[in-house]
Amino acid sequence: MADSNKESYDKVFSSLEKHHEWFENSIPLIASENIPSPAVREAVMSDFGNRYAEGWPGERVYAGCTYIDEVEIQCMELAQKLFKAEFADVRSVSGVVANLAIYSAYSNPGDVMIASSIPAGGHISHGKKEHSGTAGLVHGLDIEFFAFDPEEMTLDVDKTKAKVEDLKSQGKLPKIAMFGGSVFLFPHPVKELAEFLKGHGMHINYDAAHVAGLIAGGKFQDPLREGTDTMTMSTHKTLFGPQGGLVIGSEEHAEPIKKAMFPGLTSSHHIHHMGAKAVAFAEALEFGKDYAEQTIKNAKALASELNNVGFKVLGEKRGYTESHQTVVNVLDYGDGGTIEADLEKANIIVNRQLIPGDLKAGRHYMHPGGIRLGTSEITRLGMKESEMKEIASLLKQVVVDKKDAGEIAARVKEFKTDFKKTQYCFDNKLGAYEYVKLR
Ligand SMILES: *Cc1c(COP(=O)(O)O)cnc(C)c1O
Repeated sequence: MADSNKESYDKVFSSLEKHHEWFENSIPLIASENIPSPAVREAVMSDFGNRYAEGWPGERVYAGCTYIDEVEIQCMELAQKLFKAEFADVRSVSGVVANLAIYSAYSNPGDVMIASSIPAGGHISHGKKEHSGTAGLVHGLDIEFFAFDPEEMTLDVDKTKAKVEDLKSQGKLPKIAMFGGSVFLFPHPVKELAEFLKGHGMHINYDAAHVAGLIAGGKFQDPLREGTDTMTMSTHKTLFGPQGGLVIGSEEHAEPIKKAMFPGLTSSHHIHHMGAKAVAFAEALEFGKDYAEQTIKNAKALASELNNVGFKVLGEKRGYTESHQTVVNVLDYGDGGTIEADLEKANIIVNRQLIPGDLKAGRHYMHPGGIRLGTSEITRLGMKESEMKEIASLLKQVVVDKKDAGEIAARVKEFKTDFKKTQYCFDNKLGAYEYVKLR
């Protein structure tokens, strides 16, 4: 911290610009990320980001909300249309906060929730207190896990039913059943379990943080039609909006969720992001079907090309994936942590991943057995099946052949030259990673 204030200030901008340049010349394969359109970025930069609009449109507790109300009403209507839902609360600032709204509305501290464990694809916001999981730590829920079938890479319906009966006999019947997760290759058996879970009085939520864009495009599963009460999500993973959250459901759930969201969980609801969500929902309504279809095609193509070049790809028995994700067991070549670092040096951005069997073998999240790849962002940039072949080959050259990272990074940069604009949007004058200077 020997720098002058102006030097520190300048350094921030220099890091920001370098980050943009790096991502422009990289292959971004983080499954929870995406690249928003220039239109979404424009809304995020607007004055909405400097305002408060507590409460509900038309019932605000501050003046100055005329145009914010117009946009928020539109945002809710677009979300309802996109997911065929009666009700949408667009104020959640993130997927985690959306889940907290469900915990607050439908359970009390000390109650039990059934969800997926992390090695079975669950998210830390569904987790236990001893792991600092949101549900346990923040809302005091006791967490039990769905039974998971590692061969089928999804929940085991019969064993889950037996588990619930067993919990009931111990007086620990869950109040909430939480479907969805972060490693999500195949749809969850909502249809097969909803009636049984409802029969035991549970509130069923589906956390679509990862797959919201695929659901909106009609290409994954349709949880609200399969028996889910409410759905929570992030707005920036396969749903290519700004960072944020969304809760939807039928009208009967409107009041408890609205109360949980405000005053319970938000004061400012990041109104610039709310405006940008409206833009992204309109884009998803117009282009989301084609986008979801190509994203899944690309994930399947990437998985089978990776298998062709010798990688062990999970979910082989079922065709590897039905989502935007591919999970690879990399234990033949190192561990997920080291391989993530090697790939980063070659400008291929992935994340390490716990896979079934890791914990039993004593591997933990810093050095797990797998890596997870997502096709959301590369699809948004216009890549198709033929590019997946090239990406699989580049991955092999780094991970298997241990080629020089600098050499591969140069090839990645070259490969990226034709993919510098966001597709599946109304306007793309600005480059996807173009840095906008206002100062
Ligand atoms: C990413 C993720 C979240 C968290 O969403 P944020 O928007 O980052 O708060 C919640 N649930 C699941 C299943 C996720 O994958």
